[in-house]
Amino acid sequence: MIIHLNISDELIPEMDCSKPLIMAGPCSAETELQVMNTALRLAKIGVKVFRAGIWKPRTRPNAFEGVGSEGLVWLKQVKEETGMRTAIEVANVKHVYEALKNNIDVLWIGARTSANPFAVQEIADSLKGVDITVLVKNPVNPDVELWIGALERINAAGITRIGAIHRGFSDYAKGQYRNNPQWSIPIELRRRIPNLPIIVDPSHIAGRRDLIMDLSQYAMDLDFDGLIIESHCDPDKAWSDAAQQIVPEHLDYILKNLILRSQDVNNKQSVTLEELRVQIDKLDDEVLKLMEQRMNVAEKIGQFKKENNVTILQSSRWDMLLKQRINTGLSKGLSADFVQKIYSAIHEESIQHQKAVMNNG
Ligand code: PEP
Ligand code: MN
Repeated sequence: MIIHLNISDELIPEMDCSKPLIMAGPCSAETELQVMNTALRLAKIGVKVFRAGIWKPRTRPNAFEGVGSEGLVWLKQVKEETGMRTAIEVANVKHVYEALKNNIDVLWIGARTSANPFAVQEIADSLKGVDITVLVKNPVNPDVELWIGALERINAAGITRIGAIHRGFSDYAKGQYRNNPQWSIPIELRRRIPNLPIIVDPSHIAGRRDLIMDLSQYAMDLDFDGLIIESHCDPDKAWSDAAQQIVPEHLDYILKNLILRSQDVNNKQSVTLEELRVQIDKLDDEVLKLMEQRMNVAEKIGQFKKENNVTILQSSRWDMLLKQRINTGLSKGLSADFVQKIYSAIHEESIQHQKAVMNNG
């Protein structure tokens, strides 16, 4: 079902927001010197929106939690000296008031906050009657409805300069990325709200600076609208997210080498065949990655069965599993025959993996 939000054509007033919209700046504002040094170098390479975390939501206590309101004065200076717009994360009403008082142009709601409807509603209520740009990061868990819900709350408060940021999802199984991109979720968001600008955050997806370039290119190939990239004057000395930050000159290199396959911003419906094929390739990558994870679990089951002297094939469990998968498949528009075929193949492969473990040593 398509969702109709009241979205302004101009994400940020009186600014060229044509694709790709680039936002960059440090994970955290640390000192006046660090903010100004980074900002001047970013302005020089043409960045129009400067991001910086003022209050940092940290997974564990006793990590650097941001400089607080003091940093807002530095951002004011960035605006005056470079003409860049400024963007910060807000997680509560106090943050919103401080941001408005200091003429911040763009607010973003972080992944830990967008997962909490109470917190999002409080922020939305505090924004009633305000003309400001708000970007909503995906919640940490891969739940497109929760993400849409947060966007709806902000939009219902009258915020029409609204967009989303895709920063990947927390995953128990740690892969090569800090946050699993699960591209199918932002693709579904695009399908549900076609006119919503979606900006990709390769820094928080990657967690490592060497993956940022490829992720940025993916994001462009999938026709997303922009990138928000963490950039710091001296990344290795950053007080938060050091491994994923890059110097402004590195960002310049990435941006200059991005291949933009479609400049067509106004007509999101006109997806080219090439873009669709890229989507298929990404989805297949995910399918295979999931298969790999499934086989890893099957091998653990094999180990358990070996230690406990249980047979490999337990047909009642297989029967039940197949019935359930067929039902789930039907609810997703997949024919029973198709689901039966793929699960027979998966099951066979699983048994091979279990056998290998059980007969080994
Ligand atoms: C950030 O942008 O620095 C940040 C904390 O991001 P997220 O909410 O995506 O973790
Ligand atoms: Mn960060």
